[in-house]
Amino acid sequence: MKIAVVRETAPGETRVAATPETVKKFIGLGAEVAVETGSGESASISDADYEAAGASVSPRAKSLDGADLVLCIGGPDAGSLKGAKPGAILVGALDPFRRREKIDGYASAGLEALAMEWMPRITRAQSMDILSSQSNLAGYKAVVDGAATYGRAFPMMMTAAGTISAARVFVMGVGVAGLQAIATARRLGAQVSATDVRSATKEQIQSLGAKPIFVENVAGIEGEGSGGYATEMSEDYQKAQAELVSGHIAKQDMVITTALIPGRPAPRLISDAQLATMRPGSVVVDLAADAGGNVEGCVAGQNVVKHGVTIIGASNLARTLAADSSALFARNLFNFLSAFWDKEQNRPVLPDDDEIVKAIRLTHGGKVVNERLTGPAS
Ligand code: NAD
Repeated sequence: MKIAVVRETAPGETRVAATPETVKKFIGLGAEVAVETGSGESASISDADYEAAGASVSPRAKSLDGADLVLCIGGPDAGSLKGAKPGAILVGALDPFRRREKIDGYASAGLEALAMEWMPRITRAQSMDILSSQSNLAGYKAVVDGAATYGRAFPMMMTAAGTISAARVFVMGVGVAGLQAIATARRLGAQVSATDVRSATKEQIQSLGAKPIFVENVAGIEGEGSGGYATEMSEDYQKAQAELVSGHIAKQDMVITTALIPGRPAPRLISDAQLATMRPGSVVVDLAADAGGNVEGCVAGQNVVKHGVTIIGASNLARTLAADSSALFARNLFNFLSAFWDKEQNRPVLPDDDEIVKAIRLTHGGKVVNERLTGPAS
């Protein structure tokens, strides 16, 4: 069983899909690991580190030659994976909806492509969930980046020259990233409040020492849809939420938005008029920037100043913590593959009827097989 690790080539990508730690673990399972030269460079992992862990390091053609399994972060084109064995598994964040041609390419090349971002939200798959591991880091980094832009201190400080009051931080959307943002802002000494459409998050907000801000006066609010994700809310709810937010937001120094609805553009949570009520010098970090943004005027990957308020269009923040995001991503991959590892055959065996396999398998036997791409079989 030969596992190849490819060097990422997408602009701005800093992560690598295996670390010396996971290389050792794969070797422990009985695999051989071949890493493309320079794969770990931007995550501060040298070729020598991989070699010390037991991997061979060589240019892509050699590391791919005869590979049964290819580990990646973003999916490379099928054309650049020549040399891997027919039927080889390719596993990574393959972005199936936006990169459909690539997926078709994997099918034509006879690769078995597995999209880690479609991992189901079930207990068994928690340790394999790249969305959670990367969101967690993004939630932390959103606060750190926001604090670096904010021209004031976070904690209350009593100094000989007088007192500085604590920053007020409001987190909108309390999933994995939002919870980490609350915890980080609290650690920095801010006064934190938070909101979500899922009422189950109220207790989680309180348990982190933050204040829940919830729409209470609209009948039938429960934004929880399938898989623990949010659903789109009614017009009444959206109106009530906008009123609540308008009152609250004007008193905040920093707002961090993380609201996402699977398969839809990010919900608009802050309008330009609401932004204008914030104090100049305040900061809004929009973690939904890549999905269209929660904040009017947000531009992904840029800082925009409006009404004296800086909107940070946070794009793929996990990449800015390359060593940690690689370590967690690589563990997610190992946890997934080792859970399906068959010791006798010395390779992962992926049963057709397994819930995880069904969710993440995109191509098999030369065809695109995932119902989210093909539509349900009639
Ligand atoms: P997400 O990234 O899809 O969305 C972020 C948050 O935005 C969610 O909490 C969502 O409810 C909220 N939101 C959506 N629309 C909103 C609006 N209009 N106003 C305010 N908030 C809004 O969420 P996520 O981080 O992927 O987490 C979603 C759920 O899945 C959570 O309950 C999480 O604990 C759960 N989860 C389970 C597993 C597992 O069991 N394997 C793994 C990860 C996450």
